[in-house]
Amino acid sequence: MTVTASGTLPVEPYDVAVVGAGVVGCAVARGLAHHPGLRVALVEAQDDVGQGTSKANTAILHTGFDAVPGSLEARLVREGARELAAYAAESGIPVERVGALLVAWDEEQLAALPRLAEKAARNECHDTRLLGPADLYAREPHLGPGALGALHVPGESIICPWTTTLAYAVQAVRGGVDLHLNAPVTHAGHADGVHRLDTPRGPLHARRLVNAAGLHADTLDRALGHHDFTVTPRRGQLVVHDRFARALVRHILLPVPTALGKGVLVAPTVYGNVLLGPTAEDLDDKRATGSTAEGLSRLRAQGRRILPALLEEEVTAVYAGLRAATEHDDYRIAAHPDQGYVTAGGIRSTGLTASLAIAGHAIGLLAGTGLDLGPRRPLAPVRMPNLGEAFPRPHQQPERVAADPEYGILVCHCERVSRGEIRDALAGPVPPRSLDGLRRRTRARAGRCQGFYCGAAVRALFEEAQR
Ligand SMILES: Cc1cc2nc3c(=O)[nH]c(=O)nc-3n(C[C@H](O)[C@H](O)[C@H](O)COP(=O)(O)OP(=O)(O)OC[C@H]3O[C@@H](n4cnc5c(N)ncnc54)[C@H](O)[C@@H]3O)c2cc1C
Repeated sequence: MTVTASGTLPVEPYDVAVVGAGVVGCAVARGLAHHPGLRVALVEAQDDVGQGTSKANTAILHTGFDAVPGSLEARLVREGARELAAYAAESGIPVERVGALLVAWDEEQLAALPRLAEKAARNECHDTRLLGPADLYAREPHLGPGALGALHVPGESIICPWTTTLAYAVQAVRGGVDLHLNAPVTHAGHADGVHRLDTPRGPLHARRLVNAAGLHADTLDRALGHHDFTVTPRRGQLVVHDRFARALVRHILLPVPTALGKGVLVAPTVYGNVLLGPTAEDLDDKRATGSTAEGLSRLRAQGRRILPALLEEEVTAVYAGLRAATEHDDYRIAAHPDQGYVTAGGIRSTGLTASLAIAGHAIGLLAGTGLDLGPRRPLAPVRMPNLGEAFPRPHQQPERVAADPEYGILVCHCERVSRGEIRDALAGPVPPRSLDGLRRRTRARAGRCQGFYCGAAVRALFEEAQR
């Protein structure tokens, strides 16, 4: 198992290098780990996996009911959702099938619902149902006044995005992939059948290359001579309401979609709190992940209409993610066989759901460039620590606490995270290199006090592990 975060990179060329350790790159690396004959590198600019868009989304495992029928995205979301639901069940990633309600607030939106049901059916989502106002308010008694009806999509689910990316990375690394962190690719070239990727840690060579660089996939593509798409970051700001708001909402409450995207939703999370968002703002700065007063006040205005009582509940946090939107309506996944190169770009607002199917598709394209994948083996299963509220946490399991009392000592009281869970995360195969990384592995410091009370204790455990 190799994870490096400093020092020069190995000299010998890899068979495949995957650039970008978001949910897509980690899924591709995990897929390649099924082939023991391949030497694979996963190269990431930052100090952890899942630090880009993959950590800051609305965490919905979509059915793909509203995708453009016949598009690549529609197929990969549909297939990826099934694959990820099965993978989550076997690896302990929390998923709750809460279902979604697309709420119509005026006659025009109401008239659009049957068309959306037909579109869902074309996307192989056959179990949607139109609800009148009485049924709708019976399901969601706290919904704001004036809703005229809804489309119920029972398959829409909520999932932990942090555990998903980490599970892929852990399985990839255990399967023999070398994960190189702190290795931003600053220049890429291809000569004599070999890619040369320059990084501040020295060059890395590979005979095949997969571009999973998210917001920067267009830059890497251009370095290799392709001008297929331009990424325009589309910011989505979100508000996280405290867990006391959880009782207010049972489903994912969606608006009727517009050309700009899925619109502002109210959704429970697997951690037991409630999200309001996201905005959709086209920007030109790929680092603009800050929240703005204007964005948040727009969200509050929309939230007041959807679920007025939510606005009375405390806010735990705000955050923003950047969708890798492009001038095209579909993913930009393409093979360039003469270069032994596959681009997985333009993975905008559904990449978490579609990740496993994107990986399968990209690896198929890679094989089409002449790469001999060799034999395929099953990977050793991975069992991830549960971060979800709907499933037992270690401190709730007397037998685990009896066997290991560290699971009974709570460090983060808001999120009820034990010393044992923090210890396990710090000793994991892909350990955190920051307190934020530790938060994504345990929920420590993610609750209503945001580390005000537990911060010092969590930091002490983190620093002890770095010695
Ligand atoms: C507000 C919002 C809500 C969303 N909601 C959902 C949802 O509910 N469900 C869903 O399925 N999807 C959702 N998405 C979409 C989903 O989050 C993305 O499609 C997915 O995370 C994209 O993953 P990625 O691996 O392509 O990109 P990223 O996670 O951004 O990963 C790319 C990685 O590449 C690295 N990188 C970039 N350039 C270089 C370089 N030169 N060298 C080395 N490394 C590099 C970056 O550091 C980063 O870690 C949402 C997105 C947003 C913004």
